[in-house]
Amino acid sequence: MVVAKKYILVKKSEGFPKPTDFKLVEEQLPPLKENEYLTEAVFLSVDPYMRAYMRRLNVNTTMIGSQIAKIVESKSAKFPVGRYVVGQYGWRSHTVASENAPQELGLQTFLLPDLQGLPVSLGLGVLGMPGNTAYFGLLELCKPKAGETVVVSGAAGAVGSLVGQIAKIKGCTAIGIAGSDEKGKWLTQELGFDHFINYKTQNVEKELKKAAPKGVDCYFDNVGGEISTTVINQMNLFGRVAVCGAISAYNATGPIKVSTPNASIVFQQLKLEGFIVSTWNQRWMEGIHQNLQWIQQGKLKYRETVTEGFENIFKAFTEMLQGGNVGKAIVKV
Ligand code: NDP
Repeated sequence: MVVAKKYILVKKSEGFPKPTDFKLVEEQLPPLKENEYLTEAVFLSVDPYMRAYMRRLNVNTTMIGSQIAKIVESKSAKFPVGRYVVGQYGWRSHTVASENAPQELGLQTFLLPDLQGLPVSLGLGVLGMPGNTAYFGLLELCKPKAGETVVVSGAAGAVGSLVGQIAKIKGCTAIGIAGSDEKGKWLTQELGFDHFINYKTQNVEKELKKAAPKGVDCYFDNVGGEISTTVINQMNLFGRVAVCGAISAYNATGPIKVSTPNASIVFQQLKLEGFIVSTWNQRWMEGIHQNLQWIQQGKLKYRETVTEGFENIFKAFTEMLQGGNVGKAIVKV
């Protein structure tokens, strides 16, 4: 009999997550029934959306999340032993899954496609949900044209680092905003971003005026808050904003005071659109294949920040929320 380890949410604290919000428990897994398969987690993803969804989860349920897992036993022809899945199984080591399981949160469980020799962990990053968030969010909502200026906040993270590179592939000027000079060096010296602004040490308004003297055409917004107001106030007529996330507010305890950029939105006739990446579930493989091709052509680079050990997932999660990651934050089980 297989014993799974899993983290359940036992408390919903206000503000920044605490170790006592979670409890590590063991679960004896039942034998497989017809159409079921058993997986063993290999890599777990830690993502900002988990912080937002913690508020919606019921207590005493397994913490949500994606993982790359290996199929170790199977009574399903669709999910054979030895293959890897991208599974929405949460923070757990082993899972009995059914091939007919309903999809959660609009995210899909599916066999990891052939990554042509690249590491399977990329299925959680550039060749998975964050890669598709960058690909579809930027191209479908911002619709950047060659010669335009694209700004991305959260620029050195899983999504943001790809957004700037895709903007460059499309012939745009790419400006990244993130929280450390080390991240800035990576963006400009290795990934080809044209400019970097450190929102922790620099005046974003002044630096953006220097970096984008003709104004901003597209803004890929990962963070919300004051940074976004500042960027939106420097946008050109008919500029487009893809509203992807609001990490600046995920751990807030009280009301957040932010000046609204309504005058800019009205007079510059801006288009702001929020999105959830699962909107493009039907086109999922298009994004993965395109990002894979760009990697193979040397046009798209990626980095992973890997934390070792299943029991370090809380540490990996909270370090990511505090900016400890460059590129995609994952846990190697
Ligand atoms: P990242 O890899 O970018 O990790 C989070 C980063 O956020 C940290 O590294 C940190 O970098 C930055 N950050 C933390 N606190 C703040 C703050 N107060 N202000 C500004 N930046 C902060 O995460 P992802 O790439 O996975 O996600 C990026 C955003 O995209 C998130 O908001 C997430 O919720 C959203 N998202 C939305 C999806 C959708 O379907 N709409 C799908 C996937 C992600 P730094 O050092 O720069 O502070």
